[in-house]
Amino acid sequence: MPKALANAARLILCHVLEGDLAGLPAHERREQYRRQTQLLHGPMSVLLLAMTVLAALVSAFDVLTLTAVSDRLMVQTGGVALLLLMALRYRHVVSIRRRRALGMGFLALLLACLALPALDWTGPSLTPLAVFLLIPVSWLPLLVNPQATYGGLALCTAVVLALLLASTAPPGELWLFGLYYLVSVGAGLVLRRARSNLATRLDKQVETLWQRAVSDPLTGLLNRQGWLNLAGTAMTDALQAGKLPAVLFIDVDHFKRTNDQYGHMTGDALLRALGQIIDARIGPGEFSARLGGEEFACLLPDSSEEAAQRFAQRIAGEYREHASEFGSTLSIGIATHADDDLLNDLLARADAALYEAKRAGRDQVVVSR
Ligand code: GH3
Ligand code: MG
Ligand code: MG
Repeated sequence: MPKALANAARLILCHVLEGDLAGLPAHERREQYRRQTQLLHGPMSVLLLAMTVLAALVSAFDVLTLTAVSDRLMVQTGGVALLLLMALRYRHVVSIRRRRALGMGFLALLLACLALPALDWTGPSLTPLAVFLLIPVSWLPLLVNPQATYGGLALCTAVVLALLLASTAPPGELWLFGLYYLVSVGAGLVLRRARSNLATRLDKQVETLWQRAVSDPLTGLLNRQGWLNLAGTAMTDALQAGKLPAVLFIDVDHFKRTNDQYGHMTGDALLRALGQIIDARIGPGEFSARLGGEEFACLLPDSSEEAAQRFAQRIAGEYREHASEFGSTLSIGIATHADDDLLNDLLARADAALYEAKRAGRDQVVVSR
C-alpha cells in the first residue's frame, strides 16, 4: 500500500512538474525532449554568457572591495575565465549529451564562483547570496531533460543551503532568504512547465498541419506534394546506398464512365478501396500516393523490374476482384531506374508506360523501355 501511494504521488508530481509531456508515450516524449532542447540551444547559449557576465561582475565587485589580492580571488578569476571558455564552446556543441554535460559542468563552476565570495562574508547580511535567487528563475525554464533539471536544481539548492548554514545572519534573515529562494524555484518550475506545454502544443499543431498538407483526405495516402518530398528523399538515399528504385503509375480505367454509370459515391468508394489495397501491399520504406483524381503512384526504393511487375500485378488483381461488380480495372506503368534519373523523370517514364498500357487496351501492366 505505501508503495502504491508513493507511485501515485510520484505520478501526480510528474504531471504537475512536467505538464503535457508527462502524458505522452515514451518515444514521443523523447522526441519532444530532443526538439525542445534543439529549439532552446540559442537562448541557453545566451544565458551561459549572461551568467558569465554575472560571475565576472561579482568578481569585479570583490576586487573593488578587497584590500589585497588573495588566493581566493585568483581562483575566482580563473573560474570566470573558464566559464567564458565553456560558454563560448557551448554554442558550437552539436551533440545533445555533450551539451548537457557541458551545461552541468558550467552550472557547478558558476555556483562555486558565486559561493566563494559569499563564504568570506562574515557579516549578518545575506546580500552576496542574492545572486543565487536569479539562477532557478532564469535556468529552469530553459532546461528540458528532467534529470538535468532536477539534478541542477538539487546542486544549486545544496550550495544555497550550505551557505545559509555557514552564515552568521540572524534566523529571521535566513528564513526570509529561504522563502525568497523557494519562490524563485517555484517561479522557475512554473515557467518551465508553461514553456514546455507551449512548445509541445505548438509542435502538435504543426504536425497536424503538416499531415494535412501532405496527405489526401479521401484515401489517407500521401498527396502529390507529400509524395514528391518523401519519396524524393527516399530515392536519393536508395541511390546512394546502391539500390535500384522503381516507380509505378497507376490509373483506374474508364473511371469517368464508372462514375457516370454508378454515381460519384461509388467512384469515391472505389478510390478508397484502391488506396487500401495499395497501402496494405506497401512495405516499410516504400511510398504510395494519390497523385490526384484516379491516379496513384508508388515508389519501391529497392526493386528489380520483375519484382515491380509482380507488385503491380498483385495490386491490379486485387482491385479487379474487389471492383468486379462494376467492371473496373487498372492500367499500370512501371519505370525502373536509369542513369541520372530523378524521381520526376521516373514518374514521367512510368506515365509514358501507362499511356502505352491504355493504348494497348487497358487492364494491363507495361514496363518503360
Ligand atoms: P482512362 O481509362 O483513359 O484513364 O479514362 P478515365 O475516364 O479514367 O480518365 P479521365 O481522365 O477521362 O477521367 C477521370 C475521371 O476521374 C474524371 C473525374 O470525374 C473522375 N474523378 C476525379 N477525381 C475524382 C474523385 O475524387 N472522386 C470520383 N468519384 N471521381 C473522380
Ligand atoms: Mg483513368
Ligand atoms: Mg487519369
